[in-house]
Amino acid sequence: MKDCQTQANQLGLILNTLFIADLHLSESRPDITAAFIHFMQQQAIHADALYVLGDLFEVWIGDDEITPLNTQVIQAFKQLTSQQVPVYFIHGNRDFLIGRRFAKATGVILLPEHHVIDLYGQPTLIMHGDSLCTLDVAYQKFRKKSRSWWWQAGILSLPLFIRHKIGQNARQKSQQSNMNKSDNIMDVTESEVITQMEQHQVQTLIHGHTHRPAIHSLEINGQPAKRIVLGDWYEQGSCLKVTPESILLESNPLPSI
Ligand code: MN
Repeated sequence: MKDCQTQANQLGLILNTLFIADLHLSESRPDITAAFIHFMQQQAIHADALYVLGDLFEVWIGDDEITPLNTQVIQAFKQLTSQQVPVYFIHGNRDFLIGRRFAKATGVILLPEHHVIDLYGQPTLIMHGDSLCTLDVAYQKFRKKSRSWWWQAGILSLPLFIRHKIGQNARQKSQQSNMNKSDNIMDVTESEVITQMEQHQVQTLIHGHTHRPAIHSLEINGQPAKRIVLGDWYEQGSCLKVTPESILLESNPLPSI
């Protein structure tokens, strides 16, 4: 039986769905990109589907920016989707400008910010997770503005070198202000988790963003429920593997450089 299973697994016949988030791919860390491409070719290729729950890139200033990194990552997705592995993407707070051109080039399907999927019969809410950090009022204000079509149209109409500067400034500012924010402001607000799960009528939520991998037990509508938090990819190599029978939150840290 075990042999059969091993063989079936090698052939990619064991049902499994993969979730990753917070890869923060950037030109400055080619080792992360290499590990990601290895993951795509060796592991994701055997999955029923791959969900990328935001912050795939450290920064994304528009689909019209063509860099060696972007081209390499687009090719890796294209290779996967052309082999009939569906790939879904939810925007993070760093790459919310990923748009239709990226989707077309990669074959990746862009999902709305909060989305319910049927995960082997279990309705499951998926999101990046930044919308759950409601105590960070300043960020939520920016988030609302930056997700509007008029703000995005305005930004995308600027030349790339200006968008670069804006991106750099925004990252510096957010690093500085995050240093002064307490731990609970940086984490999700429990009541918002419950509100979202009740609203979407689910007992399972999967998200990233906080880089605090865990499977939390809670109660929704009087029933046991789960909140699964993906860790980041770039330090923890965090990957969630769901099969019809099991939920496995794996951690495969990259060798430090
Ligand atoms: Mn994030």
